[in-house]
Amino acid sequence: MKILDKISGFLFPLQNSCLLCKKGASYGSLCPKCRDEIITRHDFTFCPVCGRYQLEVSSAKQKHNVCQECRETTPRFLAAKSLGPFRGALKEAIYIYKYKGHRSLSIVFGQLLAELLLDEPGLADTDLLVPVPLSQEKAVTRGFNQSELLAVKIGKILNLPVSNDLVRVRNTPSQSKLARKARMDNIKGAFALSNKISGGNVVLIDDILTTGATAGECAGVLLQAGVQKVTVLTLASGIQEKDNYLF
Ligand SMILES: [Zn+2]
Ligand SMILES: [Zn+2]
Repeated sequence: MKILDKISGFLFPLQNSCLLCKKGASYGSLCPKCRDEIITRHDFTFCPVCGRYQLEVSSAKQKHNVCQECRETTPRFLAAKSLGPFRGALKEAIYIYKYKGHRSLSIVFGQLLAELLLDEPGLADTDLLVPVPLSQEKAVTRGFNQSELLAVKIGKILNLPVSNDLVRVRNTPSQSKLARKARMDNIKGAFALSNKISGGNVVLIDDILTTGATAGECAGVLLQAGVQKVTVLTLASGIQEKDNYLF
């Protein structure tokens, strides 16, 4: 390291090496190159309802195909949006955010989600942000709710209120190995509201939408309480199996 680098490192202690590539310099958590990489625009086909991706490059015709599962069972949320498919740099960044305890990533993630929300014409009338709650057990082991932290960051940037009134009333077995229908049964009745919620248009915040079962269950609770519209905003969306494609 050159003397000058040492001095500037001393003068600007916020300059760390990037959490992803470990090389680039960052003033927060990611270097500009890795930040760009997690939001690289791509042409994959996605379902306009659940937002999940099909890893085929889309033609204009395919781009708005509602997936097989959403045709069979319409989710209770209106639509789900994310930064991209759960793969590559985005997947890696989410992993170190959730499991390695790098909460500082919530700053860049919050900014990117706030930009995404602003870009969506359907979300212009958002009244309230609601994070998907963690089970008590997970909250204790992880030490923080990654979705709540994202909601707080987005709320600060866009001046939107955040409600923590959606709570988990039942712990559920791990969903990771279950298909969407089994996940829907597994998560049924797991959430409730601890207080009355006010807000016509709610945006539900989570880190990953895998099948949409959790988001759908949360949306159901909110709609039953009088919310008019629930849209889901996540960092990443799952990638669908090939037999769910409708080409
Ligand atoms: Zn980097
Ligand atoms: Zn779908």
